[in-house]
Amino acid sequence: MERILNYINGKLTEPASGQYLENFDPSVGQVYGEIPDSDQRDVEKAVEAAKESFPEWSSKSNEERSRVMIKIADLIDENLERLAKAESKDNGKPLKLARAVDIPRASSNFRFFATGILHFASESHLMDGAINYTTRTPIGVAGCISPWNLPLYLFTWKIAPALAAGNTVVAKPSEITPMTAFLLSELCIEAGLPAGVLNIVHGLGPKVGQAIVEHQDVPLISFTGGTATGKGIAATAGPMFKKLSLELGGKNPNIIFADCDFDKALRTSVQSSFANQGQICLCGSRIFIERSIYDKFRDAFVERVKNLKVGAPMDETSNLGAVVSSSHMEKVLSYIELAKEEGGTILAGGERVVLDGEFSNGYYLAPTVIEGLDYNCRTNQEEIFGPVVTLTPFDEEAEVLQMANSTPYGLSATIWTESLTKAHRTAHQLKCGIIWVNCWLVRDLRTPFGGMKQSGVGREGGWEALKFFTETRNVCVKL
Ligand code: NAD
Repeated sequence: MERILNYINGKLTEPASGQYLENFDPSVGQVYGEIPDSDQRDVEKAVEAAKESFPEWSSKSNEERSRVMIKIADLIDENLERLAKAESKDNGKPLKLARAVDIPRASSNFRFFATGILHFASESHLMDGAINYTTRTPIGVAGCISPWNLPLYLFTWKIAPALAAGNTVVAKPSEITPMTAFLLSELCIEAGLPAGVLNIVHGLGPKVGQAIVEHQDVPLISFTGGTATGKGIAATAGPMFKKLSLELGGKNPNIIFADCDFDKALRTSVQSSFANQGQICLCGSRIFIERSIYDKFRDAFVERVKNLKVGAPMDETSNLGAVVSSSHMEKVLSYIELAKEEGGTILAGGERVVLDGEFSNGYYLAPTVIEGLDYNCRTNQEEIFGPVVTLTPFDEEAEVLQMANSTPYGLSATIWTESLTKAHRTAHQLKCGIIWVNCWLVRDLRTPFGGMKQSGVGREGGWEALKFFTETRNVCVKL
């Protein structure tokens, strides 16, 4: 059994309760470790440590903070293989994906904000008879809460800008995938991050997460997770006037116009549907195809999907690994049943995959393609967050925009067309925070990241993140 610990005030510590939760390896469906079942007492200690370390950390020069953070990034790089294996085992994702995407991105997050802070500047406004200058200064203890789908990637996406801006942090990774956050705490100790600057408390959302959100000494909360959880967090943090960043669910449209580069659209759509077993908030789960190429695209897409290999995460030839948990697998399967009840036809997948030997109890699902559903049925409106996509034909641009915009979500969208004018025109009418044209998941960390409607509040990335993690003060001086 691998037992992990909290990271509080620079030390790896047992939870106050002395109790531990089971941690599952989804590839075999068995418990392989234990994680602290922390509670409000551990959060209290973590906030205390973060408060105490704030004056010193926030008054360090940007260069000093940057140096430690770059050391952490270097250590992540040096431990790439170990971290990738841990991420894959904890989450079920293919090892090659963790090695190519998750872990390198975690190191990039640290490096990006460690260098970004050196170039962060604020404005001044000269007016008749006076000059204004604006300052952006660290706030205090930031609460950072992240989900299970891209564990270290999203955890560091919050922690790095918070620390770079001079805040101290109390962070909670998902209890479903806590392992790489624990390994990060060891790397922070090795890098010489001062005690109390980053504290990581493991445990359940309603206990640990809630205790962070409602703590009066945590004035800002950065949360990524489900829309229902975000709503609850907003209800707690709102009346306390906390600064709040919410990155929530999605139900993203992938729009294929007849004048697209067919092969590119096809190849990338397979990826944008099933990467990470469809468990990326940016996956395009509703594919809209212009009717004149509907049959051709559908047949070619289904053929490719049937050739995807569902296999053990460590197997380098696997395209899809296991989904994250047994309950998540059941949830996805229940949506496939719902799709059938709603009149959908399963063109590929639609069931659990049982692998041989030690993997026979793992949580594997076949990549699933469904057609014949109304755009406004539940399957097409609710987030499934698994390897399931629907295909829907359209005739007119206005029609596809209406269908694409019809969900309560507005995170991302993808458009495939060779017409420049059509690409810009449709991009401007989609109610989504992130739009890709003729590509998917191409990320520049300087760009604003976040969603409209129930996909979130605020934006992360680049200056947006540094602005979120600082307090703005304007000083007006009479000349
Ligand atoms: P979740 O909302 O169940 O959990 C997210 C985190 O919140 C976990 O650490 C959890 O322990 C914690 N939590 C749960 N209850 C809490 C409470 N009452 N107070 C404080 N914290 C609490 O989400 P999940 O199932 O881990 O992740 C999947 C969801 O995340 C999907 O909806 C997906 O779309 C979304 N997501 C969004 C983005 C984005 O950038 N918009 C990125 C990745 C995932």
